[in-house]
Amino acid sequence: MSVRFMIDSIDFVRNAGIHQDKIPVLELARLHDLLFDNEGELRYTISGHFDKNNKPNLHLEIKGKIHLCCQRCLDKLPHIVDLQTILLLVESEAELDQVDEEDTIDAILATPDLDVWSLIEEEIILSLSISSRHPDGACEMYQPESNEDILFDKTQLTNPFAALAAFKNKN
Ligand SMILES: [Zn+2]
Repeated sequence: MSVRFMIDSIDFVRNAGIHQDKIPVLELARLHDLLFDNEGELRYTISGHFDKNNKPNLHLEIKGKIHLCCQRCLDKLPHIVDLQTILLLVESEAELDQVDEEDTIDAILATPDLDVWSLIEEEIILSLSISSRHPDGACEMYQPESNEDILFDKTQLTNPFAALAAFKNKN
């Protein structure tokens, strides 16, 4: 069993903390629904800083490879994770809302027991595109496969005018 890494977020910044480690993908349970398998591991670095306005920040860097599911053929889709995020630590919900409105930087609540792994999970989930799929040439199922395409084809076949147009074009 791996032990999750927790920090007292403000303390971590005050002490200019820096921590590097690896997480097996297997441990990132919230990611699993999005993955083809749970192989591999991610490397991360988290460090604490005060920014130019003297606000506490966490810098998070996550690198590694995960296997997504191609949304077209459902086969394995290797995906490189290479994320760098700066998170502003705020003291209250009200402050959090305010930062969200300004929307220039991501903010999280400064807690004395911040679960770094959970933060990493969240950052990766946010970074993933909803419709991840192989490039056209590399996908085994590169055919008109989606419902929309099938629907479109049927319309073509059952529409006499479309058939006529196709016939005319041939001649
Ligand atoms: Zn595919």
